[in-house]
This record gives sequence, structure tokens and C-alpha cells, in this order.
Amino acid sequence: MSRPVLVWFRNDLRVADHPALSAAAAAGAVVAVHIEATDPQLRVRGAASRWWLHHSLRAHAARLAGLGIRFEALSGPTAETLFGAAERHGATAIFWNRRYGPAERELDAGVKAEARARGLEARSCVGDALAEPFDMQTGSGGPYQVYTPFWKALRVRDMALPLPAPGPQGEALPAPEVDADYSEPHWAAQLRPHWRIGEMGAAEALERFLAGPVSAYKDGRDIPAEPATSRLSPHLAFGELSPRQIWHRARQVAAAHPEKEAAIDKFLSEVGWREFNINQLYHRENIATVPMQPKYRDFPWRTPGPELGRWQKGLTGFPIVDAGMRELWQTGYMHNRVRMLVGSLLAKNLLIDWRLGEEWFWDTLCDADPANNPGNWQWVAGCGLDASPYFRIFNPVIQGEKFDADGHYVRKFLPELAKLPNDWLHKPFEAPDDVLRKAGVTLGETYPRPLVDLKTSRARALEMAAGL
Ligand SMILES: Cc1cc2nc3c(=O)[nH]c(=O)nc-3n(C[C@H](O)[C@H](O)[C@H](O)COP(=O)(O)OP(=O)(O)OC[C@H]3O[C@@H](n4cnc5c(N)ncnc54)[C@H](O)[C@@H]3O)c2cc1C
Repeated sequence: MSRPVLVWFRNDLRVADHPALSAAAAAGAVVAVHIEATDPQLRVRGAASRWWLHHSLRAHAARLAGLGIRFEALSGPTAETLFGAAERHGATAIFWNRRYGPAERELDAGVKAEARARGLEARSCVGDALAEPFDMQTGSGGPYQVYTPFWKALRVRDMALPLPAPGPQGEALPAPEVDADYSEPHWAAQLRPHWRIGEMGAAEALERFLAGPVSAYKDGRDIPAEPATSRLSPHLAFGELSPRQIWHRARQVAAAHPEKEAAIDKFLSEVGWREFNINQLYHRENIATVPMQPKYRDFPWRTPGPELGRWQKGLTGFPIVDAGMRELWQTGYMHNRVRMLVGSLLAKNLLIDWRLGEEWFWDTLCDADPANNPGNWQWVAGCGLDASPYFRIFNPVIQGEKFDADGHYVRKFLPELAKLPNDWLHKPFEAPDDVLRKAGVTLGETYPRPLVDLKTSRARALEMAAGL
């Protein structure tokens, strides 16, 4: 009988294009484990992510059972739990795909050393990146600081072809229960209808997107009311599909449909931003807490009062911002353009520390990602690499009028404003009394007055940043 090899799944809950799983299938009899790690140095998962993880693990368990692979979803301190599982299964080897956060890397290196000390083979395989961050160096050496040259270098690389899912490893098994405690957030019920969680759902979302919406991606991706983006982000965050699968499938579709090529290039360049953020995660100090530009380290953020809670609840008085914050709460997702607007209001107009916004997103986004969330928050706040410059302060009224001109997005998430005419929808605080009355809006009662004056807060932010 071949030797048992333990595959340690992390945020890579799929069977296709899974280098560690394929290597294990070639090396022995596969058994598999996922550990929800409780090691203190790891960031605790947010509530929406826990909810997603629970359902993703169930889908994954069923998929592995179909391949005849025994799988356990465990939680506890990594080393103890992992080596305990290896011992129970009599495994002589542990395989996993690499991850790129500093704390995770250190932990994995420790596991590797301990495994070898215990006489086990430990093998780490390529992780969920188009190019591993240690392979991406500028001409003069060192990591990229600017996106455009990074993307130019990345897009011409030979991307590894995705690996097929391994064939059956034995008789199909009944799917195991996933009964570890991934307690659901109290708002979970409303998230469910928006997603099909798991590897099959991810593949379906990619196909659906490439078959239709991608054609409108170039212009449509900035219109929050339009279903013009892929909504692949939570699937990517949990590794239900890999960036290599996206890359090659999208290229295949572009080759077969040259009219889609420009849109697909644009789409892949956004996937490139994910890679850029992975590089920052890998090469920098903890990006969730340490500003990448040193001059921001002592920035005098204001101590937040009730504004933070109003921002979180979508009660700022700026409709596009409030619609975004409600979309986040109701669906576990927020459109990218709106993420930029809510971030700019918080970090620039309100001068509230971007880390508090990052934390709220971390808790409520299904796609909360250790590279993309802090990387983008730092970009919005102006303290990241290749960041939005400090003088770019989005005006939520102008942005709303531009990107939600028909008001479909705001009306969907702010029914209390639904009857306001488009001319006033994005600035109810300037609407004449009779317009408000007719629309059933009473400022300060049915909808809040603005949390901050846009003009003076903009001037204050510019002054503060110019003084750095
Ligand atoms: C303040 C802020 C916080 C964010 N937090 C996260 C996060 O926690 N997790 C996350 O995945 N994305 C985050 N983003 C990036 C972006 O908003 C989402 O990736 C995107 O909205 C996901 O929708 P989609 O899959 O339909 O994107 P599409 O437009 O279809 O793009 C395809 C994929 O490309 C990647 N991508 C697209 N835009 C970006 C971007 N700006 N930065 C990095 N990767 C990108 C994502 O993996 C995305 O799934 C954040 C953006 C901002 C401004």
C-alpha cells in the first residue's frame, strides 16, 4: 500500500490547479486537513469570512469525498493540530501550497523545520499567485514600488498552465460533517442569496462573466449598478479558483473572441493589482498596521467620535457612501468604485485612521483579503505604494452623479430616498424643501444630514497632508 501523504489546505479550497494536492496524489495515498488556526500571531478572521469559510469547507469536503479523499476540518494551534492529524493518519509527508503573509510564512517555516525534525517529508508548493513575489524583482533588484512597470513585467511572463484535478484516489466516500465552530455572524442569513460558495460556484462565476459581462467591463466596471464585474473576489480570497485558472481561461476566450480582447486585457490588469498587493504583503512589514510611506507613521488622525459608527451603518448623509456601506452589510461585498469613495470620506474628509476602516471591511467583507484589503486602504488613504495622491479627495456628490447618474444603485440600497428626483438624489441636503416633502424625505429624521462639510474638510485634509 502506498504511504499516506497529508495535504494541508489553507485558503486554497479547491481540487483543480492545486499543486500540493497533485503532488500528493503522485506521491502516495492522499488524506487532507484544514486547520482554522488559533496561533496568536495570525490575524483573526472577520465574521463574514468565517461564514464564507464554513460553507466553503462544506463544499470542499464534498468534493474531496467524491474523489475518495478523507478530509478533516479542524481548529486549534497549527503545529499541534497538524502533527496530531499526521500521526492519526500515519502520514509520512505533509504537502501544502505557499502563502505570502509574513506571519504565515514564519509559521510555515517553523512547521517545515519541525516536520523534518520528526522525520516527516515537508513540501511547500507554489501558492495562489501568477508569479511568486520573490520572483518579481525590478531591473536593479528589489521589489516593485510602482504598479505600471510591475504589470508590464508580469503580463509577459510565461504563466504556468493550471493543473487538472486529480483523478479518484479511491472509492467515493460520504461527505464528512464540517462541525468545527465557525460561528455565523448574526447577519449571515441576508448574505446567502448573493453567492454560490465553493469551487463549482467559482468556476461558474468565471464562465458566466467571460461569456457575457466582460464585454462591458472596460466602461461598466465603474458603474456600481451594473453587473459588469466578475464578483470573483471572495472565491479568490478562499482559493476556490486560482489566478492561473483565470488567466488562461480568459486568454482562451480572448483568442476565440477577438472583440473581447481589450476588455479581457483590462480585466486581467485588475487581477494584476491583486498580485501587486501580494508583493507588498510579502516584502513589507505588516501592511494592515504599518503605513508603507514612513512619513505617514505619525499622522495625527482624529480620535473618532460617533462619526465612525455612522459611517459603518451607512448614515453619513452622502447617498453613494451610505448605499455602499449598506451594500457591504447586506451582501458582504461592495463595488470597487464605491469602496474608494467610502474610504476617501473616512480617511480624508473625516481624518479617521484608515486602519479603522480596514478593520470594519475585514470583519464584514466576504472577500476580506490580507493583501488586497490593507493594500487598497493604504492606497485610498495616500500612505500606500503607488497610492492615490494625497490631493485626490473624492467628492461623493460629483462621483455619485457621474457613476450612478440614474440613481439605480442609491435607490436599491437607500429606499428612503427612492422618490427623490435624480437632480437631488446625490445631494439631498441641497434639495429645496418642496422636493424633499414630495419625496417623503425629512432631513435629520428619515435620512441624515451630512456628517461633514465637504469643502472645509477637504481643505483641512489637504493642509494636513501638505505638512507631512
Ligand atoms: C478600500 C478598499 C478595500 C478593498 N478590499 C479588498 C479586499 O479585502 N479583498 C479584495 O479581493 N479586494 C479588495 N478591494 C479591491 C476591489 O474592490 C475588489 O477586488 C473588487 O471590487 C472585487 O470585485 P470583482 O471580483 O467583481 O472585481 P473585478 O473587477 O471583476 O476584478 C477581478 C479580480 O481582480 C482583483 N482586483 C480587482 N480590483 C482590484 C483592486 N483594486 N485591488 C486588488 N485587486 C483587485 C480581484 O481579485 C478581483 O476579484 C478593495 C478595494 C478598496 C478600494
